[in-house]
Amino acid sequence: NAELRIEGLRAAVGGTEILKGIDLVVRSGEVHAVMGPNGSGKSTLSHVIAGRPGYEVLDGSVTLDGEDLLALPAWRRAQAGLFLAMQYPTEVPGVALEDVLVESLTAAGRPDAEVRERMLVEAGRIGFDERFLHRPLNVDLSGGEKKRNETLQLGVLDPKIAILDELDSGLDVDALRDVSRRIEQATEESGLGVLAITHYSRLLHELQPDAVHILVKGRIVAEGGPELAAELERTGYAQYLEDGGAEGP
Ligand code: ADP
Ligand code: MG
Ligand code: MG
Repeated sequence: NAELRIEGLRAAVGGTEILKGIDLVVRSGEVHAVMGPNGSGKSTLSHVIAGRPGYEVLDGSVTLDGEDLLALPAWRRAQAGLFLAMQYPTEVPGVALEDVLVESLTAAGRPDAEVRERMLVEAGRIGFDERFLHRPLNVDLSGGEKKRNETLQLGVLDPKIAILDELDSGLDVDALRDVSRRIEQATEESGLGVLAITHYSRLLHELQPDAVHILVKGRIVAEGGPELAAELERTGYAQYLEDGGAEGP
């Protein structure tokens, strides 16, 4: 049973403190939603956990099954079982999705033929045309295709914990349903733990969260069950923005 544990995490970008003390625990099979207005630090949180360069950790810890993720380079975090689906997936000209997956999994000792077979199965599960496997990674793909692409990677790599940053942005209803269903299945079949980061509650109609955390100005200001997302849908973030700026406890 996997556990991602974030404790007292403070982080800065370009000399400005963005995350001001985040505590969050995600365990196998659980779906946690982090919701917040634009600029609240959602993407910063996902990037710091995944080890993207350019972020300075000021304090706190992030561990996966007790292992200090912050001490590892990004690729080692992925090897430890962490997966990040980015809000804006990187375009990689000249490298196909197929190459990336075959390369990383055969390096981990999995037979080439098994990886290729797995990719086809996963493409089918999310209604993703297999010709995308051979195209340069994310180049000239629509928003929805990029997200299916990320979900296919998730299915093949079978991580312990996935961080999904705005998975719902740019997705039409059908794609959102397919992608959410696949992730839901991963939580049930292989005990995937999910940190789903989103501005809107749209995603959470498809992917039922066990817990919802509201992030405002780098702090978690409210926590609860799925009812919190429903409440946000009615009231918006205004009530949190008013006291979200207050300093100190
Ligand atoms: P969200 O994903 O919740 O919309 P972000 O984590 O992207 O928010 O950004 C949080 C804050 O950090 C914003 O005020 C943003 O302007 C700032 N920020 C993000 N990236 C950088 C950067 N590279 N340099 C300076 N400020 C940044
Ligand atoms: Mg569930
Ligand atoms: Mg963002």
